[in-house]
Amino acid sequence: MPIQSFIPPQRTLMGPGPSDVNPRILSALARPTVGHLDPTFVGMMDEVKSLLQYAFQTENAFTIAVSAPGSAGMEACFVNLLTPQDTVVVCRNGVFGARMIENVQRGGANLIVVDSPWGRAVDPQQLEDTLKQNPQANFVAFVHAETSTGALSDAKTLCEIARKHDCLTIVDAVTSLGGVELKVDDWGIDAIYSGSQKCLSCVPGLSPVSFSERATEVIKNRKTPVQSWFLDQSLVMGYWSGEGKRSYHHTAPVNSLYALHEALVILQQEGLEQSWARHKAQHQKLAGGLNKLGLDFIVPQEERLPQLNSVFIPKGVDDVAVRSYLLNEYNLEIGAGLGDFAGSAWRIGLMGYAARSENVALCLSALEDALG
Ligand code: PLP
Repeated sequence: MPIQSFIPPQRTLMGPGPSDVNPRILSALARPTVGHLDPTFVGMMDEVKSLLQYAFQTENAFTIAVSAPGSAGMEACFVNLLTPQDTVVVCRNGVFGARMIENVQRGGANLIVVDSPWGRAVDPQQLEDTLKQNPQANFVAFVHAETSTGALSDAKTLCEIARKHDCLTIVDAVTSLGGVELKVDDWGIDAIYSGSQKCLSCVPGLSPVSFSERATEVIKNRKTPVQSWFLDQSLVMGYWSGEGKRSYHHTAPVNSLYALHEALVILQQEGLEQSWARHKAQHQKLAGGLNKLGLDFIVPQEERLPQLNSVFIPKGVDDVAVRSYLLNEYNLEIGAGLGDFAGSAWRIGLMGYAARSENVALCLSALEDALG
């Protein structure tokens, strides 16, 4: 039998990502492919840059989309900024903080870990104490929205503390961008990366990044080449830079960038504050319904991410059986627990286009049925 075309089922995606993709974005993806140095495409890339500056609330000139998923944005920040002479304080409160640690270790920089309990925000006081005890530290890294637990950390305060101790900040905004307040310039973030597939509701595979002037200077003044050729942002900027002639670095994922452009146009049309407010409002509706079903949140209310709702699986309930039932009966995907919470939690995403009343209603009634 010859293999046939793949026609995926129509799911409602309410897990930790990818999120439901807005149909406008899917149709942008199907537009004709042009050359990646075509003047029309280059003009669109300039628009992606300025739309990303809006989404990140920054004037950073060095704001682009890495042609690979969020993990590549993460790696781009670490490999470009760090050398073995640096000391990085990584705040870990879940899986993705642990990945930052791996990036630091693999790059050979000195590492100091500040651990906060899983399901809680990073503790600013612990960071402050650690920086006081370790004046040699020159970088602080943390995850703004910990997707593995649903905890939101106070990025503004953590950046203030880092700045006071003369450290540059590296911030993971994969799940926060577009879903909760995030102000790169006001908060003084130096390097930030995100993902296309969460609250931007775009297809997976692109990682918006932004570097402050201070971070850009560090990259420019490196004495040793960045060990990754593909992620070397000085080379990538030669392709993304609006000034002068663009040089070929790699073949940009042309159609995916159309999709990101459309996702960012949608965000701009809605308005950033309105998008944050919509995520919060839908979260409140969902949280009320989940509580009625007897499901308890892992994260205390004031530290909760609206776009990622983690609840304990009730005693005696079969995790896999419930998630399979939702998928098979309702075409609804919710996420399994990750890391410390594997097998004991569900992660219900309300990201981007998925943060709508229809989805909340579907999720609550399907869960009621599955648990009934
Ligand atoms: N950081 C966080 C907080 C994430 O949630 C994820 C993915 O879920 C990543 C990094 C990695 O992104 P990607 O899977 O797009 O490589």
